Amino acid sequence: MEIYNGKSVFGGIAIGRISVYKKGEQQVKRNRITDVDAELSRFEDAKKTAIEQLQGLYDKALKEVGEANAAIFEVHQMMLDDGDYNESIANIIKSQEVNAEYAVASTGDNFSQMFAAMEDDYMRARAADIKDISERIISILSGKGDNAIGADEPAIIVADDLAPSETVQLDKDMVLSFVTVHGSLNSHTAILARTMAIPALVGTPLPLDESVDGKLGVVDGAAGVIYVDPDEKTLEAMKKKQQEELQKKELLQSLKGKENITLDGQKIMLYANIGNIKDLATVLQNDAGGIGLFRSEFIYLESEDYPTEEEQFLIYKQVAETMAGRRVIIRTLDIGADKQCDYFEMEHEENPAMGCRAIRICLTRPEIFKTQLRALFRASAYGNIAIMYPMITSVKEVKKIKEIVAEVKAEMDAAGIPYGNPEQGIMIETPAAVIVGNELAKEVDFFSIGTNDLTQYTLAIDRQNTKLDEFYDSHHPAILRMISMVVESAHKAGIWAGICGELGADQTLTKEFLAMGVDELSVSPGSILPIRKIIMETDVAKYKAGR
Ligand code: PEP
Ligand code: MG
Repeated sequence: MEIYNGKSVFGGIAIGRISVYKKGEQQVKRNRITDVDAELSRFEDAKKTAIEQLQGLYDKALKEVGEANAAIFEVHQMMLDDGDYNESIANIIKSQEVNAEYAVASTGDNFSQMFAAMEDDYMRARAADIKDISERIISILSGKGDNAIGADEPAIIVADDLAPSETVQLDKDMVLSFVTVHGSLNSHTAILARTMAIPALVGTPLPLDESVDGKLGVVDGAAGVIYVDPDEKTLEAMKKKQQEELQKKELLQSLKGKENITLDGQKIMLYANIGNIKDLATVLQNDAGGIGLFRSEFIYLESEDYPTEEEQFLIYKQVAETMAGRRVIIRTLDIGADKQCDYFEMEHEENPAMGCRAIRICLTRPEIFKTQLRALFRASAYGNIAIMYPMITSVKEVKKIKEIVAEVKAEMDAAGIPYGNPEQGIMIETPAAVIVGNELAKEVDFFSIGTNDLTQYTLAIDRQNTKLDEFYDSHHPAILRMISMVVESAHKAGIWAGICGELGADQTLTKEFLAMGVDELSVSPGSILPIRKIIMETDVAKYKAGR
């Protein structure tokens, strides 16, 4: 047994096979074959398996995220049966006498380039689907099973580091736990692990080779430990701990449907953070009162090109409809810093966290912003959508946003496009926004404090730098005082203020937030019921008297 210590991102016990995640797309080699017929039937068999996998994914998605989102798996099944696509693969195998993997990869490349060059938005968007189905077949042909991580059963994913764009694309049903060698506690990958509510560690110095890959592993998330090839005694102890945690979770289920109200009658909204439409099932399972932060930039990170207005509209509409009248706060894209999209073609920056990110991109490239705003406003006719703008530092920025919103509305009016009347709020995640909070509060409908960035910018600490984790003190008095100031500014102007940064889920501060009068906490879905329990057991007046 080998034991490696890392930093805990999310608690819980995971027991399973370890799979070392290798970056990059699958490398396909061109091999000469002698038996063409055998190769053709290898391809046919793989295609059959792919169609079965897609049917399984369709059925699962239908239950979890509804028909509109499940439809993509049906489309993929149809694409796999497309005559031209199949003919091209068969021709390459026959004429070049090469392996099926190579034939599928080159057909996938050709077809996706062809689609990418088309005029029509819908057809252009199919380029990514062609790549997707081709990669699925290649995975099957090379015996890797049904997922990008190369595991055919749920596994503990061990990697050097994971970019948010990689994490978001992992099939979460196949991931028992994340363990990375690098990565900081405040990175978006860590945040995604919390949203998925799976045990996760960062900063774990373990080798990424055969001494780990394929071995049985146990991750103790809370303790920050991974055991590779555990001995009998450890395995038994961990199984017992896993069972106990499961029982604790089940107990919390009894809090579903209960109000978030303290013993002395103070209410607070308890919402969920999501990065993806796939997270909706856990939001509903954990009884969130709404969505307090939908990080819309993940839609961009998952795409190979700018997501169209229609694509975004369908996603936002789906979220709004699924949440059935509950508030859904969608943050406009926060690309930049660690969330990079190649197709944005951003210039290299020495200090990306302080560079052209989030609202700064939107204000300097209004065509991108307007596409998203149109999608959001249109979708707001289908539910209780609120729009939230990130990285605000001044009233001037808010006024500029309002001008762009007015233009978008005027264009939609002229075109006779219906839209709703969403609330519009801002994130408070820069010290400047805290200081001018009184003025900002007069301009917007709500505040949501992004403590991750607020801590980074207040303490002058790069949240991505794992070496600085010990200095990243989100309990610093400056941060707590700022949160209190923001709540005061909001209440003075008659608007509400919440916290959607990771600190909102810090259970050691729940009472303090109640005492400050915070109106909303938006946390990872798995944190909702534990926090509800604390709220229901708190007497705020008594707590205030004793602090
Ligand atoms: C934050 O900064 O606290 C926040 C919620 O936004 P993100 O973590 O996505 O930067
Ligand atoms: Mg932020």
